[in-house]
Amino acid sequence: MPGGRGDPVREAARLMSTRRNVVALTGAGISVESGIPSFRGAQGMWAKYDPMEYATLHAFMLSPRKVWEMLSEMVSVCGGAMPNAAHKGLAALEETGVVRAVITQNVDGLHQAAGSRRVIEYHGNLDELICVYCWKRYPTRERWTPGTVPLCDCGEILKPNVVLFGEPIPWLAQEQAEEEARTCGVLVVIGTSAQVSPACDIPRIAKESGAAVVEINPEETSLSGNVTDIHLRGSASEVIGKMVRLFQDPTTPPPRG
Ligand code: NAD
Ligand code: ZN
Repeated sequence: MPGGRGDPVREAARLMSTRRNVVALTGAGISVESGIPSFRGAQGMWAKYDPMEYATLHAFMLSPRKVWEMLSEMVSVCGGAMPNAAHKGLAALEETGVVRAVITQNVDGLHQAAGSRRVIEYHGNLDELICVYCWKRYPTRERWTPGTVPLCDCGEILKPNVVLFGEPIPWLAQEQAEEEARTCGVLVVIGTSAQVSPACDIPRIAKESGAAVVEINPEETSLSGNVTDIHLRGSASEVIGKMVRLFQDPTTPPPRG
């Protein structure tokens, strides 16, 4: 059995076993090991693209062709990415009844590709394009090829059906995410800087509703030492891999419910 006495991963696994109703909240950090850059940090997308110029609804409405320079890069990178050990580990934890649901801020579809079934996409998914004029939707692969700007049948430029800054969260995803946060026993927050609102409220809602918060992130965030009860410092694949092995150990009872 991996991990020794006082091992924080073992401590988190015990908490997940006793509290039950474990929900994961994921951010861009979980997909970094799949080759998708996060937004913040030296290697992040914001080092190259100013979010105010490229990631707001206002910017898209004003100059969609310019915003598609950034979107094209994201669609290409995400389209070619494969789930990593962290996505697969979360799917395995759902399969064995440890994890109840995944709320993701990511738009890359990698949780579903890894086999997770209850995935709440808080910020939408790059797989779909929508016309902001006539609301028609299309699968991205039907309308977009690298180097092109996808057009609607009505002639307008399509937008990926993801939440840009200045757009509301899809109401069903918001309702479901808040319900999961209010009713979970443990919220495992993985690879998010918790700076994007209102997603950053989810850990606080869980905490105020009585849940324990476990954070998996190599860095400190605004949640660490504050909302977070146990901070597991390390990459998502390393820590979740260790958790999966602990839950495979018969001395760690699997939670149900
Ligand atoms: P963020 O870029 O603000 O923060 C990423 C966090 O991940 C940081 O705290 C960093 O320390 C941590 N991290 C880096 N590598 C990690 C690893 N290997 N394991 C665990 N943690 C790691 O991301 P955010 O908080 O998700 O907010 C950015 C917004 O942009 C979100 O809406 C997000 O979904 C979106 N976004 C999505 C993708 C994607 O779909 N893959 C990629 C970039 C940004
Ligand atoms: Zn249209």
